[in-house]
Amino acid sequence: MNDKGQTPGRIKKELKKLLHKDHSFAQGRIVGSMCTAPHTFAREIFSRYIDKNVGDPGLFPATTALETQTVSMLGRLLSCETVSGFILTGGSEANIVALWTAKMLHKAKGNEVLVPESAHFSFDKAASLLELNLKKIRLKDDFTVDIEAVKKQLTTKTIAIVGIAGTTPLGVVDPIPELSQLAVERGLYLHVDAALGGFVLPFLGGLGRPSPRFDFSLPGVSSITIDPHKMGMSVIPGGGLLYRNAELSAAVNVFVPYLAGGETAQATVVGTRSGASVLATWALLKHLGKSGYTEVVRRCMELTDFLAEGVRRIDGLYLPCEPVLNVVGVASRKLPVQELAARLRRRGWALSLFPGHIRVVLMPHLKRKHIQNFLAALASTLNDR
Ligand code: PLP
Repeated sequence: MNDKGQTPGRIKKELKKLLHKDHSFAQGRIVGSMCTAPHTFAREIFSRYIDKNVGDPGLFPATTALETQTVSMLGRLLSCETVSGFILTGGSEANIVALWTAKMLHKAKGNEVLVPESAHFSFDKAASLLELNLKKIRLKDDFTVDIEAVKKQLTTKTIAIVGIAGTTPLGVVDPIPELSQLAVERGLYLHVDAALGGFVLPFLGGLGRPSPRFDFSLPGVSSITIDPHKMGMSVIPGGGLLYRNAELSAAVNVFVPYLAGGETAQATVVGTRSGASVLATWALLKHLGKSGYTEVVRRCMELTDFLAEGVRRIDGLYLPCEPVLNVVGVASRKLPVQELAARLRRRGWALSLFPGHIRVVLMPHLKRKHIQNFLAALASTLNDR
């Protein structure tokens, strides 16, 4: 820290220079992220209400009531009228709190949780924090979890199963109806991670595309992760955890007696929590509405088709699976995929690398010209010496 403070103008100039190396969504080279440039209206609301703290509901009862409304809007989108939940820091916190809830509800029974091999690494964090025995279940050739393998791995100590509606590596959707049936039959907690898919799947049917079932209309689903800061186009931090009812969310309540707003109970990992994120999401849901989100999803899916078709035309490349959501895997017969990714990264492309493929997520900041450039880079990179 300097002895003497500096002027805001000088600091802003310095910051601009220092941040020069960061990628920006506007450049169209971030093709591997599930985040995107937040909608301008969400940004505006976020900066206006930056001082709101929903961790202290007694001080901010109106913001807290709007969190309830936000959760209700998301719940209705996912077929639940009795929904309860929170706007959290992201999908990781939502998944951790979901497994925390499962543990508190069923800890007398055991500590085993079954997750697909494709599950996000936040489940490893949850298992480590909560001392759960995480069993990873193999996938089928279509990269969805093998339901027969799930059944075989169930024991008397299993307390929860997880299904993914939009997997991290390829965006595929696990057989949630079958997992739901298992959950009902065996009295298990079923958490669905729809961090990405939650804001895509509900709109696919209206666009004439297949839309696998994954939401609370399936009776075994206890909770769902759905992230406003991914395809919801809201600000970071913006995760969402929805429960089928308030009894479930109350299972992890920690009583807090001393806050300035009066005593309360918290069921989240963090204490002080961004009310601005809540309000930005509330405002954006109201602003875009179903028609606005359908339009966002339509554009992203059209871009997905465009990329998938382009990849099919490049000799030596192939798709590990047909895209379901706005996620495209690119695999190579010509070059180890690690080498292909390294070359593309050297050319400035910010992509994701998985063991057998490169992952592209067609987020709202990407335009057709960006994907044209990416396809050209893919084709030429493949033949680089
Ligand atoms: N769940 C899935 C399916 C994801 O793909 C991700 C992140 O990409 C997460 C959860 C974690 O989300 P966050 O990075 O917001 O914590």
